[in-house]
Amino acid sequence: MNDLDPFKIFLELQLGLPRNGPGSRASTEAAFAMLPPLPEKPEIADLGCGQGASTFELLRLTGGRVTAVDLFEPFLDKLNARAEKEGVSEARLLPVRGDMEALSFDNEAFDLIWSEGAIYLLGFAHGLESWRRFVKPGGFVAVSECTWLTATPSPEARAFWDAAYPAMGTVASNCEALTRAGYELLGTHVLPEEDWWRDYYTPMRKRIAEMRATYGEAAEEVLANEETEIALFENNPGQYSYVFYVMRKRD
Ligand code: SAH
Repeated sequence: MNDLDPFKIFLELQLGLPRNGPGSRASTEAAFAMLPPLPEKPEIADLGCGQGASTFELLRLTGGRVTAVDLFEPFLDKLNARAEKEGVSEARLLPVRGDMEALSFDNEAFDLIWSEGAIYLLGFAHGLESWRRFVKPGGFVAVSECTWLTATPSPEARAFWDAAYPAMGTVASNCEALTRAGYELLGTHVLPEEDWWRDYYTPMRKRIAEMRATYGEAAEEVLANEETEIALFENNPGQYSYVFYVMRKRD
């Protein structure tokens, strides 16, 4: 077997995890707590929602409706299955298959745009610029973004991220970028290391072992890449993490 599509392997790996990027209920709550009170039934978009890790938290934290957008159907299938299991009404959750770079919502449709571990796919500044028109005047955006926490990373960490995400910023550069994109910062929250391990890297390591047993060499490249990323995080504590940026749209 040597004809496995690397993307299919990646999807299968991701779909076996409780979430598809670092994060936790506590961190979603900490970011949400930086917002002033929202309308009673806010309109919320969760962009790059995956299987809905943050979607279901937002439904719990607000009385609003969440429009959950993802490009890939298998993630939305998992989100729909969970919604059914938890008895979430159709009035509160609207799953949408769509490209977050080419959204077709009305301008000023949302009180709040939320996005965990996904804006990097568009680039931090570009994502914020292109989503701005969908936010109501004075409305809010909260995103988590992988961010350098040190100006002097190890050569190993620098080399990895220069290849994987060369535009990765620091807290200061991202704060400048969001100001330039037309927002005012309300607060930041650095995800603790535990948010990388508990529901992401620890189950991923287990899943890598299972998939290696199933697919052998045919999946090795994808699985080895993920292992490299995990080892990098383990060996370079405190050098980078996801950071929540919570902001208000300026006039
Ligand atoms: N927010 C989720 C998933 C983060 S992973 C969580 O924290 O668990 C990034 C997600 O973005 C994946 O679910 C992927 O399918 C989705 N995605 C990738 N490109 C996209 C695009 N162009 N438009 C919408 N979603 C996209």
